[in-house]
Amino acid sequence: MYSVKIPKVINFGPNALSATEYPKNALIITTASKDLSHKWIDKMGIQDYILHDTVEPEPSIDNVNDVISKHKSKNLSAIIGLGGGSSLDVAKYSSAKMKTMKILIPTTFGTGAEMTTYCVLKFDGKKKLLREDEFLADIAVVDSYFLSGTPEQIIKNSVCDACAQATEGYDSKLGNDFTKTLCKKAFDILHDAIMNNKPENYPYGSMLSGMGFGNCSTTLGHALSYAYSNEGVPHGYSLSSCTTVAHKFNKSIFYNEFKECIEKLGFGKLTLKTPVDQAADIIMTDVGHLNPNPVQINKNDIIKCLNDINNGDL
Ligand SMILES: [Zn+2]
Repeated sequence: MYSVKIPKVINFGPNALSATEYPKNALIITTASKDLSHKWIDKMGIQDYILHDTVEPEPSIDNVNDVISKHKSKNLSAIIGLGGGSSLDVAKYSSAKMKTMKILIPTTFGTGAEMTTYCVLKFDGKKKLLREDEFLADIAVVDSYFLSGTPEQIIKNSVCDACAQATEGYDSKLGNDFTKTLCKKAFDILHDAIMNNKPENYPYGSMLSGMGFGNCSTTLGHALSYAYSNEGVPHGYSLSSCTTVAHKFNKSIFYNEFKECIEKLGFGKLTLKTPVDQAADIIMTDVGHLNPNPVQINKNDIIKCLNDINNGDL
């Protein structure tokens, strides 16, 4: 049997943000400044809400506990996560704990977090990837309205993440015909949007990518990328090189088109500061990403991939 989990309702396309009906007495969780969040809230047309905007970027379980203690007695109708991954993750965990309806509205695109059962929070200062069915949205709202306010480099990093997730997800051993269909369609849309300058299609592409990889996992490219994340390279940026060498290693059908996308987006060369041997030891422990890889990986394979990245041999 195969099982695919996606939000109950997905509202997407032009005007999805303002055409969605929001319940009264909902709690909006965001990391955005007051100026920005009020602009978004006006556009939503939501009435009678409570705003919680003291969530930190890269949030911890303390942020969740703060939400619960401040708002648990308010008989909330729903929790709305409005923002990037941090806002959505706090909304996911808080609403699961408080057993309220959950509405997720991403303002940056790429992670597909609004589609998945994943949630990343810090516990004792360390990031932890959690996965629970109850983190799934009741309603996800995907609207390209937010793109115009996002810095270009963030958009590029995000769309690279979406491309990496779609293509690694397609190749994952945990996939099935349905996830492959979603991942393939996602990458076709993203590739066309990147090559033909149609950024308005990024949100739809990353939404499909989230539905696909969220049900089958990413693979070698993501495993390699955490060595660079540990050195402060943005997630999407590190995938530009990591997923390319991973596709070369795996002989993925996406190798050429993925490389075309990252060249068009203009990503530069990556250099790892940590010795490759040491980084490879850490990467080898990431069985969550390495086990679903279509080709079995050993430490020498990892070292070869990291050397290729260091030499710019993509
Ligand atoms: Zn990713």
